[in-house]
Amino acid sequence: MTSTESSSQPADRYVVVGNPVAHSRSPFIHAAFAQQTGEAIEYGRLEAPLDAFADTVRAFLAEGGHGFNVTVPFKLQAYDLADRLTPRAEAAGAVNTMWIEDGLIHGDNTDGIGLVRDIQDNLDTLLEDKRVLLLGAGGAAMGAMLPLIECRPSRIVVANRTASRASDMLEEFVEAADSFGVELWGGGLDALEQLSEDEACDVVINASSSSLHGELPPVPAFLLGDGVLAYDMMYGAEPTVFLRHAAQCGARTADGLGMLVEQAAEAFYIWRGVRPRTAPVLADLRAALQAEHKG
Ligand code: NDP
Repeated sequence: MTSTESSSQPADRYVVVGNPVAHSRSPFIHAAFAQQTGEAIEYGRLEAPLDAFADTVRAFLAEGGHGFNVTVPFKLQAYDLADRLTPRAEAAGAVNTMWIEDGLIHGDNTDGIGLVRDIQDNLDTLLEDKRVLLLGAGGAAMGAMLPLIECRPSRIVVANRTASRASDMLEEFVEAADSFGVELWGGGLDALEQLSEDEACDVVINASSSSLHGELPPVPAFLLGDGVLAYDMMYGAEPTVFLRHAAQCGARTADGLGMLVEQAAEAFYIWRGVRPRTAPVLADLRAALQAEHKG
């Protein structure tokens, strides 16, 4: 019996809301979690018109929807819509997971914790006392900052194409970094040239959308050498241009598919109180992605 065939009760309804949303892998992931845990849920896609995110999700909730994920381009609007925000959603300034509790719309951001779990649990790289380089200062980078800081790395360097955006983002996290004993530093991508070889980072995370455009951020080769984990939040059947370059420089590489599965697992846990196992779902999703690519 699958989760949606539960004999006694109708399945609880969840969706991912975006525009476009047809490409979303979330239904695959949540169906696998439901099957694995026996939770009676059904999870679909809901495309909201670009100018009607709030109306669309309110209608979904009014029709009995239990919760939803939010993807591009609505994560900021979801933040505005929430009656209650978790601290990590507040810090991220964006929301990707919503649900109703005590009659109020709650919003969380599970992207950053998804990233951290993928790096620490799936890729066996503990971040405590490590140096982390974060490329980018957009929504994904904002969402990653607090969960990264909470891992107590010794230093986080942020480098972004637009230097002022990196500085603004760093400013937001000074207090949190101080309380966890994390040194923050950064600026434009050219700031990376100021780093000496003994300031190389252990983990380099591409949280920019450069790979989406097939472009390579100008990261000095010594920052991607032996012993470094190079992580690109973007994922696909083939390694991104950033990951290909990092591998040539000697780094170990990983794409963001694990982050996607881990952020979904956290959302599933929030909604259902059950933590699914992610490794088999990640393996199945990877296989599906590659099969589609070959086919
Ligand atoms: P945003 O549009 O919010 O931010 C884009 C960022 O990328 C900005 O910092 C921008 O710099 C920078 N950028 C864009 N083009 C280039 C380029 N050619 N060279 C260098 N930097 C560039 O996007 P998001 O933060 O939402 O997403 C970033 C990436 O993370 C995407 O690839 C997305 O797919 C991925 N992602 C993956 C997730 C997962 O679960 N695996 C979850 C969320 C995001 P500037 O400020 O100068 O414009």
